[in-house]
Amino acid sequence: MMLEVTGLAKRFGGIRALDGVDFRIDRGELVGIIGPNGSGKTTLFNVITGIYRPDRGGVAMEGESIAGLPPHRISRKGIARTFQNIRLFPNLTVMDNVRIAHHPYVRYGPAAAIFRAESFYREERRIREQVEEYLALFSLQDRRKELAKNLPYGDQRKLEIARALAACPKLLLLDEPAAGMNPSEVRKLMEFVLDIRARFSLTVLLIEHQMRLVMGICERLVVLDFGQVIARGIPSEIRKDPLVIEAYLGRGTSSNS
Ligand code: ADP
Ligand code: MG
Repeated sequence: MMLEVTGLAKRFGGIRALDGVDFRIDRGELVGIIGPNGSGKTTLFNVITGIYRPDRGGVAMEGESIAGLPPHRISRKGIARTFQNIRLFPNLTVMDNVRIAHHPYVRYGPAAAIFRAESFYREERRIREQVEEYLALFSLQDRRKELAKNLPYGDQRKLEIARALAACPKLLLLDEPAAGMNPSEVRKLMEFVLDIRARFSLTVLLIEHQMRLVMGICERLVVLDFGQVIARGIPSEIRKDPLVIEAYLGRGTSSNS
């Protein structure tokens, strides 16, 4: 098992953002977390990655409890994420945005950096090569010197994923990666997610509020509504689930989903 979440609860004032969420995801799976806006999807990622401490409940990564650990310790356990609202370093280049993600893994010590020891140069070279590899994979190599803020929106989304991958995660959490993309970009992105999962042997948890976008690629779906899991299962079943239909239509948020 890769990740297990049990009885997870988190409130903000009077709002129960998460209200007893249970689910598990096995190694290599691609699972979608769907639900209307405000149903707790992003909060779930924020709790898993240590941005918020849960009020109750547990999070276990490969059998080891990580609930309440600070974000950098959780990222060292092999969990990386992207954000619903893109969080790149806007005034750094494309290349540097990816390089930065490598830092927790840099093997030379501060002394080596100061004295410019050979190991420093070797490590720098290794990182540079790896960064180039990620950029090529995302067809961003020709933009390596551009500032992140000057990239077209779709490329910024890709760069965020590239940066998450540079931390060498086992588990990749994607928060509405398709937001703001047109249908053909979305299709390419979804194929891309399948591709990187295979290439890097990843386990992927994918948040999306429009159900139809993830129907085609996720093996399983977990549906949140008001912080609770209201359904889980394979996409063809979820689509017909009366509770799910009601959650979506009842609030009129995504009648096109
Ligand atoms: P989703 O990602 O499914 O749209 P969120 O997890 O962002 O939903 O939000 C779930 C609920 O928690 C919403 O009602 C939201 O307003 C509230 N919420 C999320 N984060 C905070 C916060 N930091 N402070 C106060 N309320 C929050
Ligand atoms: Mg969200």
